Amino acid sequence: MTILNVAIIGSGPSGFFAADGLLKQGAARVDMFDRLPTPYGLVRGGVAPDHQKIKNVVKVFEKCAQLPGFRFFGNVNFGSDLVLSELLSLYHAVIFAVGAKSDRKLGVPGEDLTGSDPATAFVGWYNDHPDYSHYHFDLPQSKVAVIGVGNVAIDVTRVLAHDPDSIRETDIADYALEALRKSQVKEIHLIGRRSLAQAAFTDMEIRELCHLPGADLVIDPQDVELDPLSLEDLEKADPAHKNNVRILTEQAKLGLGNKPKKIFLKFLRSPVEILGRDGKVAGLKLCKNKIYRDVDGTLKPRAQSEFEVINVERVFRSVGYMGEPLPGVPFNPKTGTIPNASGRVADFPAGKVLPGLYVVGWAKRGPSGVIGTNKPDALETVELLLQDRADLEKKTIPADGNLESLLKSKNVRSVSFSDWQYLDQLEQERGRQKGKVREKYSDIANMVAALNKRPALG
Ligand code: NAP
Repeated sequence: MTILNVAIIGSGPSGFFAADGLLKQGAARVDMFDRLPTPYGLVRGGVAPDHQKIKNVVKVFEKCAQLPGFRFFGNVNFGSDLVLSELLSLYHAVIFAVGAKSDRKLGVPGEDLTGSDPATAFVGWYNDHPDYSHYHFDLPQSKVAVIGVGNVAIDVTRVLAHDPDSIRETDIADYALEALRKSQVKEIHLIGRRSLAQAAFTDMEIRELCHLPGADLVIDPQDVELDPLSLEDLEKADPAHKNNVRILTEQAKLGLGNKPKKIFLKFLRSPVEILGRDGKVAGLKLCKNKIYRDVDGTLKPRAQSEFEVINVERVFRSVGYMGEPLPGVPFNPKTGTIPNASGRVADFPAGKVLPGLYVVGWAKRGPSGVIGTNKPDALETVELLLQDRADLEKKTIPADGNLESLLKSKNVRSVSFSDWQYLDQLEQERGRQKGKVREKYSDIANMVAALNKRPALG
């Protein structure tokens, strides 16, 4: 039996779960690539700093990286440093695990005003992500809005509502902690377009938001009175949605509370315009919605001719991530995903499966689910790849060493897993000096410079 050579593009959870699945079956050697010198995708660049426990999942990935046949090539950009035709000549199969890099747009006037930003950028910023560390999120405003009620919106709200001292020992970016210390934010308006019963956040996250030491979650009792359609569907809803309704029904009884900051959670409202003055956000115009049942059976919001304006001066648009096309790889612009049949990449729009190409994670199914959702998703793809192995094996793959010489010929300074472990130690040491779990490098050039000073291995 030929051991397959598989390239995985992307080193987030879905990429690692796919690598683990392949390596544990002794079916393949895996080369994992990432455009950043650091692995772990959204576990490093997305998970909120006050949720350190969630980041423990990297221990699973660290174990995977020690399995025979695994190699990591960070700081290698698919599409420029390596193109698809080169990968196809070096590997039996390529798995895309690239996530969803961009943000979904709201499509309302004023979206591009100064002070209106995607939550994805704010998240990247407080997490020291090299793509966003140059952003400036000063927070002199007293009232801000977060649009959308998914878990990212909850993360952003929590970070804004926290006493900065309570998160100073985490891996939050120093500059973000500094900005949060100077923050004047007192009111956060969290806006959902459908009813409480359809909220995208999970029960654990909303419960946590109800118990922040420095902020009251305030919800109008009218917003927890469900319409008949929402009540009808709630009966067959999953426990998390039922819990959301229970938790917030109780919370609505508590009124305004007496903590210094307020989170006003509002449902059945959609932004129709972000209002501006001198090019900056000066308000948010919302229309009220009613729930209706669409032909496909889902409950959707329908705009009513009733409006309200909240005088916020900053808006975080947290309405979901969006995938971006990769050079030479099929892409469905509507869903922002790589078209596929259960993980086998298909061309677009015809839908014909393309041999040797596979996809996992958000690039496969869209930006949904928690970290663990990526495991069965990745294993489904691995299963199909192994079913295809008779065909994949027919391809002649050059002997080892060609990849390194190709990267060298292009002057690509790739980062190995051992390099990353060295950076990891440096970051933890930098953190220890400041009483934090970690002080991340936020700049790729600094990471490479630190690695270039790495003492030679004995
Ligand atoms: P999400 O869960 O899809 O939530 C997006 C939110 O935006 C929904 O409330 C959605 O409302 C709303 N929305 C979309 N388009 C809108 C529009 N045009 N106007 C107003 N609202 C709009 O996405 P996410 O929060 O970015 O999270 C992505 C995934 O990561 C989720 O699966 C999430 O659970 C996961 N995640 C998990 C954690 C955690 O476990 N702690 C933390 C962060 C993220 P509708 O429901 O009406 O579409």
